[in-house]
Amino acid sequence: MKKHIGKCALCRNECELSFEHIPPHSSFNSTPAKPVSGDKLMLDDDRMPWEIEGLPYTNQQRGMGKYSLCESCNNLTGSWYGDDYKLMAHIINHTLREPIEPDVNGIGIREIHPLRFIKQVISMFCSINNGDDPRFEPLRKFVLDKDAVGLDKNKYKLCMYFTKSNMIKYAPLSVLLMMGEEKCESIALSEITAYPLGFLLYFDPFPSWKYEGIDITSFADCKYDDTATVEMPLCIKEVNDVFPAYYRTKEEIIECVENNKKWAEENDT
Ligand SMILES: [Zn+2]
Repeated sequence: MKKHIGKCALCRNECELSFEHIPPHSSFNSTPAKPVSGDKLMLDDDRMPWEIEGLPYTNQQRGMGKYSLCESCNNLTGSWYGDDYKLMAHIINHTLREPIEPDVNGIGIREIHPLRFIKQVISMFCSINNGDDPRFEPLRKFVLDKDAVGLDKNKYKLCMYFTKSNMIKYAPLSVLLMMGEEKCESIALSEITAYPLGFLLYFDPFPSWKYEGIDITSFADCKYDDTATVEMPLCIKEVNDVFPAYYRTKEEIIECVENNKKWAEENDT
């Protein structure tokens, strides 16, 4: 069997890497997956982001993930944090599968360990991003010490949403631009979407940016054994795009592609 040698995304030791399920195996990620990369999708102007038929893919029989962690980090993080992620994913799955009454706009989740949950999510972000980036160093330390508490809110903001979309998306660190009142503003972010949850990790957040999702950064302020009842708005997003923080419906994407084609034809590009 092929060995995967590299630097562990958490402890940074050079060693044989083990397969890390992202999200955990028990959270709707145990069936064979066919990941395709965003650049292959974007090569073809006529192909919509959800049309993956016929594209080359790496067959992942056991679900989606990466050879990113050493055996020890994989086992430790799985045993410390995996169960709380599973609990959240299963409760949200149950909620989304039932018809939601129009007057219901929030959800309460009892007996969850907020710190364990957020550390599982941050561990996933470490796995999909470039470990040499110094911005991930405090995050790695936070995950590797199960009792470490608190994230620097001037440097990191973690937001969560819910989704019924089946697309699994790993969007490594990229920069998003937005026209502000007076000038163009930018922010660095990374996104992971995996039914029924989605996460946005923003770097160096500032007040005027329009953040998507529910801010869960304060989960990091709980202790390892603290349990809480977490009440959140039912923030549900449709995910069809490979770009981070872009939540267009399929109809909106088709309309945009057609407008772009029309523009190109009229301008003879
Ligand atoms: Zn490791």
